[in-house]
Order: sequence, then C-alpha cells, then structure tokens
Amino acid sequence: MSNTIRLTVWNEFRHEQANQRVREIYPAGMHAAIAAFLGAEADIIVRTATLDEPDHGLTDEVLADTDVLTWWGHLAHGDVSDTIVSKVHQRVLEGMGLIIFHSGHFSKIFKKLMGTTCDLKWRQIGEKERVWVIEPGHPIANGLGQFFEIPHAEMYGERFDIPAPDTLVFMSWFAGGEVFRSGCCYHRGNGKIFYFRPGHETFPIFYQSEIQTVIKNAVRWAAPVDCPKPNFGQSKPIEQVNHTQI
Ligand code: ZN
Repeated sequence: MSNTIRLTVWNEFRHEQANQRVREIYPAGMHAAIAAFLGAEADIIVRTATLDEPDHGLTDEVLADTDVLTWWGHLAHGDVSDTIVSKVHQRVLEGMGLIIFHSGHFSKIFKKLMGTTCDLKWRQIGEKERVWVIEPGHPIANGLGQFFEIPHAEMYGERFDIPAPDTLVFMSWFAGGEVFRSGCCYHRGNGKIFYFRPGHETFPIFYQSEIQTVIKNAVRWAAPVDCPKPNFGQSKPIEQVNHTQI
C-alpha cells in the first residue's frame, strides 16, 4: 500500500465552460482527461478537484490525503483563496509533490514557491514546439527519445522569470525561433515541484502519448519519500547525548 500514490488533479475548469472549442476537446474538463490516464496506472489513486467547489475542492481532509497535486489554471488565478494557497504551500513544505502545468506559471501557489514574477513571453498562433530532453538520466525523462514534438502549441519564450531550477529536464524550441525552459524541477522544504510547460487548452495536448508519459513520470518523481524528521533549534552535541545515554 505504501507504494500507492494518492493523486489530486486540480483544474480551474472555466475555459471548458466558456469556450466551445475547449469543451469539444475536453468535454468533461481537462481534469477528467488528466485523471483518466493517470487513474489507469496501478500505483496511482486519483481524485479531481475544481475551483468552484467549496474550498476549491482542496479541503483539509483532501490535502491531508494527497501525496501529489497537479495544477491547471489560467483565467482565474485571482479567484483562488489565499487561505487555500497557504495550506497547499504548507503541504508542499511537508512533502506533498506539486506539478504545475502551462499557464499555472502565474498561479499564486507557483509564484509563492518561486518568489519571482514567473513572467514570460507568449504567442498564440499554434506553431510547432519541439521539446528536447536535456537531462536524459532523470526519472521524468524515462521512456522518451531525444526529443518529441507538439504539432500545435502556444509559444512560451525566455526570459522565464523563475529561479534557476534544481534540475532542468526539458528545453523547448518553437518554430518562431524562441526557446523556453519547459521542464523544471525544484525542492521546497520536503516537497518536490515540477513545472511542465505544455498544456494549452485549445489543443488536445493532454491526449498526446509523450505528454502522458512525462506526467506519469513526474507524479512518481514528485511523490513523497519517508524522510527523516529534522530537529530544529538549540541542540546538544550528539556525542555527549550518546555518552549520557550509555
Ligand atoms: Zn495557454
């Protein structure tokens, strides 16, 4: 049982209700599409949560029962309650994994964890994106080739105003010429964070097999480990304590 990952897939779920194109691609919402392929994995138990549920679906009980949280938001970052953001932040520091997709770069939780503006350059003409694996030994790159392509994507370009990632797994190139750090790993407290750039809502990106491979790998990478509990504050010399105990 300890190898089972309790996953919560969070989605703002506004575009799907307001935009017919998005609804055609994701009739039950992006969270349903993401939950479907992750829930098919034997070691992942999935639930979904959306912005308009009470507490955005992220009650204390849900957060306490979540090993990894995935986050998709765009239109309504400002509608996310600061109280819930603080609780998610605390859970990350305790060890909960967090995976931020695409326009979640501007979410309150990502900006709080990064401490920078997280701003970037963008263009929406549906150009090709080539995602290069630049850290092939990393678990999130497991099962991929040297690169994969997304035929139509929104462009995100550097500069991306983030702290330098602990590990940069992917770098994207776009047909228009820009590059972007598109797979960024961080540690904050005991928690692991993965920012994954693809996921624009008007393209069927979450159905693409390489994208699903990356996300499955990222969920497993971000899952908590049974970490030692550190002691903070004034401390006696370890040797002295050991001798006293003998
Ligand atoms: Zn987008």
